[in-house]
Amino acid sequence: MESGLYVVATPIGNLGDMVPRAVEILQSADLIAAEDTRHSAPLLKHFNIDTPMMAYHDHSDTGALARIEQCIEGGGSVALISDAGTPLISDPGFRLVRHAHERGWAVVPVPGANAAIAALSVAGLPTDRFRFEGFLPAKSAGRRGELEALAQESATLVFYEAPHRVLETLRDMRDVLGPARLAVVARELTKTFETVLRAPLSELVSRVEGDSNQTRGEIVLLVAGAEAAATEITPEIARMLELLSEILPPRQAAGLVADAFGLRKKALYEYLISR
Ligand code: SAM
Repeated sequence: MESGLYVVATPIGNLGDMVPRAVEILQSADLIAAEDTRHSAPLLKHFNIDTPMMAYHDHSDTGALARIEQCIEGGGSVALISDAGTPLISDPGFRLVRHAHERGWAVVPVPGANAAIAALSVAGLPTDRFRFEGFLPAKSAGRRGELEALAQESATLVFYEAPHRVLETLRDMRDVLGPARLAVVARELTKTFETVLRAPLSELVSRVEGDSNQTRGEIVLLVAGAEAAATEITPEIARMLELLSEILPPRQAAGLVADAFGLRKKALYEYLISR
């Protein structure tokens, strides 16, 4: 096994999602750096992994980092795991991985489960562009402020949320993003009580209010991006389109005006050919 830092994903609930390569790497590493050793012990036991384990998180004391350094600089390998899913994704590890690059160690991904990607894969919302926001602020004022800043974002929005806050967050989303915005509550993914609710925000709020199970377990919230703003053809834009279309094909004229004014080319083209 090449010396270096291995960033290893573990399941987000269903142990069947542990990838074989993750088991091999955890078995053959010299040391496992875990977010919480007590939490990870049953997982390691289940897969017959008896590699020494130490606690590591981004605010660990320098002693923890020194132990990892000593191992890798002595030619060994360290596997980083978090409590569930992919380390660094709303989980510890960023500082260690940055440090690894600064020291010139090999940094090797061992991909596997991730709640955000699992939720996106079943949400039925556009996935060509998405924006992962992790956890919103716990207090409503901060949360609403962040949602306001995201209101015009056209990519699908993905959030992690604690179960006891899911209802108040959905209410804030409804108030700030509008009741008609399509959203999804993806809960307990890969586990026995997995559910995926998909509805406009106003309806989602009522459904979660009426089902206390929806405020238990682990939850990913996804919200459809803002619709591209309707393109208003002002007299100035119309004049520019007309002038350009005298010397250029409509598609090209529409493209130039769209680029210059930050408008949708399709709407401008349709305006030109329907005159
Ligand atoms: N690193 C993890 C990953 O790769 O998904 C995420 C860690 S973050 C501390 C924990 C949050 O992820 C939970 O509060 C929840 O929002 C989400 N999550 C984790 N497991 C989940 C599951 N099985 N179903 C739905 N959401 C989950």
